[in-house]
Order: sequence, then C-alpha cells, then structure tokens
Amino acid sequence: MQDDHVTVWNNILQIIKDNINPQSFKTWFDPILPLKVEDKVLTIQVPSQFFYEWLEEHYVGLLKKTLEKELGPGSKLEYNIIVENSGSRASNPYTINVPTRNTSGGRKNEVGMPLNLTAGIHNPFIIPGLKKINIDSQLNPNYTFDNFIEGDCNRLARSAGFAVSNKPGGTAFNPLMIFGGVGLGKTHLAHAIGSRIKENISSKAVLYVSSEKFINQYIDSCKNGNNNDFINFYQLVDVLIVDDVQFFAKKEKTQEIFFQIFNHLHQAGKQLILTSDRAPRDLKDVDERLLSRFKWGLSADLQIPDFETRIAILEHKMYQDGIRLPGDVVEYVAHNIDSNIRELEGALISLLAQSSLNRKDIDLELAKKMMKNFVKNASREISIDYIQKLVSDYFTIPVETLKSKTRKREIVQARQISMFFAKQMTKSSLKNIGMHFGGRDHSTVIHACQTVNDLMDTDKKFKADVEELNKRIKINTY
Ligand code: ADP
Ligand code: MG
Repeated sequence: MQDDHVTVWNNILQIIKDNINPQSFKTWFDPILPLKVEDKVLTIQVPSQFFYEWLEEHYVGLLKKTLEKELGPGSKLEYNIIVENSGSRASNPYTINVPTRNTSGGRKNEVGMPLNLTAGIHNPFIIPGLKKINIDSQLNPNYTFDNFIEGDCNRLARSAGFAVSNKPGGTAFNPLMIFGGVGLGKTHLAHAIGSRIKENISSKAVLYVSSEKFINQYIDSCKNGNNNDFINFYQLVDVLIVDDVQFFAKKEKTQEIFFQIFNHLHQAGKQLILTSDRAPRDLKDVDERLLSRFKWGLSADLQIPDFETRIAILEHKMYQDGIRLPGDVVEYVAHNIDSNIRELEGALISLLAQSSLNRKDIDLELAKKMMKNFVKNASREISIDYIQKLVSDYFTIPVETLKSKTRKREIVQARQISMFFAKQMTKSSLKNIGMHFGGRDHSTVIHACQTVNDLMDTDKKFKADVEELNKRIKINTY
C-alpha cells in the first residue's frame, strides 16, 4: 500500500505521544517526515544532524519499542538527514540553521544509520561462573566528575562519591546511598563514580545496573532455572552500582536475593553504591533487614541547585556544546526553571531547537515565549532564590550577604523582607525558608514576618520599599 509508511508512523506517534511530555513531542516529533517503509525498515526524515543525535540519545528506547510493535521484531529505523547548504560545522547548533525543506535546495544525505537495537540491553551474564570476570560495566562515559558541576546542593554526595571512587570498599561509605528527587543527578553521579574507579584501576569489575533491570534479570533467571548463575555473577563484582532502588519496593523475592548479594559483597570488602528517589527511612515496602543495610554506610542527598549553580550548569553545558547565548537569556532560563537539572537541560535544548527550526537567533523574547510553553503551569511558582535575588538587587547588596550572619540594620531588614515574601509567596515551610537564609531556624522566620508587618504600619519609607518590591516580584513572574 502506498501510504504504509504514513500509517506506520502515525501509529508510532500515537504511542510516543502518550509517553513523553507535549512540549518534547512538539519539538522532536512534529518535524519528522516519514519517507518509506521497506522490509521492516522505516525511513524518516529529520531536519538536521543535531536532531538525529538528539533522537538517538533520548528516544532510542522508545522508538525501538514502538517500531517493533508496529513492524515486528528485527525492524529497523533509518534516518534521512537534511544537510545544510553551507559548509559550516555542525557542532554549533546556531550553524545548523535548518535547511530548506524543499529538496531542491537542501542536499539529501542518505545516512541510513540503523538504530542500534541492542544498545543498553546487554545481559551482563556473559561469562557466568568464571573467576576472573571481564564484564561490560554498562557505564555511560558522558557522565563524569568533570562535568558534574559542584554546588551546595550536591557537595556532600559529590565528595563522598569522589572518596569512594578513590578507595572503593575502603571507606566508611559502604554502601554509599545517593538520594534525591528526579533529574537532580543521581544517575550521573553514580556513573561518574564507576567510571573513575575504572580509570584508576581498570581491572576492577565495576557494574552499573538499574534496579528494573536487576529485577527482570532475576525473574528471567527464575524462569530459566539459572538462579544460581545470577547470584554467582553478581557476587563476583568488585563495585556494584544499583540505580533507583526504590523500585525494589514490594518485590520481596528480589529483595531477598539482593540482600544475599549485598551481604556477600559487603563482607568481602566490595563497594556498593545505591541511588534512590528518597531517603532510606522513607522507603516503603522494603524489608527492614535490607533497609538497615542501606543505612550502614553514608546516605547523601542531592538537592535542587540554587540560582548560581543553575547558571554554572547552563554555562558548562553551553561550553561543552560550543554554544553561546546572551547573558540575559541564561539568567532568564535559570530563574524560571528551578525544578531540576533535567528540565534545565531540556529548556536549553528546546531553545536551541526552536531557534534552529525557526532560523531565528535566541533572544530574551524568544526565550520568554518558549518558556511559557515549557513551564507546565503558566503561572509559575516563585522561588526563594528568586526573591532573594530581586531583594538584594533592589537594595544593592550581594545575595551572599543576605544569607550571612551580618547584623547591620539595613541588611537585617533586607533579609527580613526576603523572608516575609518567601513566606507569603512560596509554599515553603518556615524551616525551609530558614535553611535558605544561611541555616536559620523557623522562629527567626516568624520573627521576620512579624517585624515586617509592624514596620509597614509605622515606617512609610519601609512600606514603600516593600510595596515596590512586591510589584517587581510579581511583574517578573508569569
Ligand atoms: P536523576 O538520576 O537524579 O534523575 P540524572 O543523573 O539523570 O538525574 O540527571 C539529569 C540530567 O542532569 C543529566 O543530563 C545530568 O547530566 C544532568 N546533571 C545532573 N546533575 C548535574 C550537575 N551537578 N552538573 C551538571 N549536570 C548535571
Ligand atoms: Mg536516574
């Protein structure tokens, strides 16, 4: 049938749509054109090399699954990349300037790169039962310490990870449990530790495994009756990294097996590194014995990076990709995306993609327009960092001073005003607000709010300042 490829692609899009957020869908899938389907090979046209790389990096799993669903096992995807006319290098997305869509202008390039369907699904059982094992560590070389930007939000976890990587099994941090919300760098840090160990001592058998994969391997081993091979294999590892252990919840059998492996490795002085989306004490439906093991070593959390760290991360990513953006755009993104680092990266990339697709330079206007779509609810929440920045700009004092111990009158007042707004405009607890101001306690915040209210009644100048700030904070926020 003539329209086969269109139907196939539309079916694939239906599934993909349900699995990713609408903005990403719009950015990365809308511009794709299905070209043909032949012998289980679907060819799609993408607007640029950058686009192709992005798809491969972020959506390969999803594409593979949906494609196989449509065309059956063994199906492949091929890309047809439109190449720009100019000979400019593609490392800078500014120069990717998306090519003329009509093919007379743009040269077509049959890249025909097949999807690597097996990537990432290696089974580490490759050499079961051997003493000296040579395993594929499953480490992602892109996640290193060098590109893991340090900030207050991750200092403890990062330095503990660094210590572990220099002396696996030889520190008190065993297991090292890294925990924190989504997109805050748990997986990145876990890989960085693994890679550094391999760099230091290449003979160490390091293995990274997601907890889902571990669970599936265990289930398979039960089906295939080679349960013991499974356990033996894991017990031979020198450094075991298990990502997202919260998924062990309710999986009693898996927990039992993991408990056994954990004990074996720990007793043998081998290093365990675990990550979880919450603190061990908050893990539900995990056996007490296992939980107590998780608490043996060090639990270090990753927090949401503050404004300065977000800027540093954005600058680092831009530097890596050879991109330059105006300072006000970077600040704007850092102000507006304060949920997690993955979203921060996503915003940056969407911005680049949009500019590339529309052949328009990125300026503040474009960033504002984009960000409206990106930030899910149009009226975004105001953050404490943001309030601190505006207040300190207004009084021309550094944010750091606002958080310091200084008791100078004008600084105390600026600090109190910031706390007052933080209480009024954010959903943060008093405790959390106090933490953001150099670790003060909740009673200080209560006192600040009272003082501001009192002064507003008695001091005209003070009241005018607060009102002006109120306006500025609201104007600058969607
Ligand atoms: P998690 O596993 O906690 O959900 P990830 O490790 O997948 O988060 O991190 C999400 C993205 O943010 C990754 O692309 C990662 O490289 C990046 N990232 C996280 N922390 C940092 C950091 N401190 N510096 C630079 N990039 C970071
Ligand atoms: Mg992760």
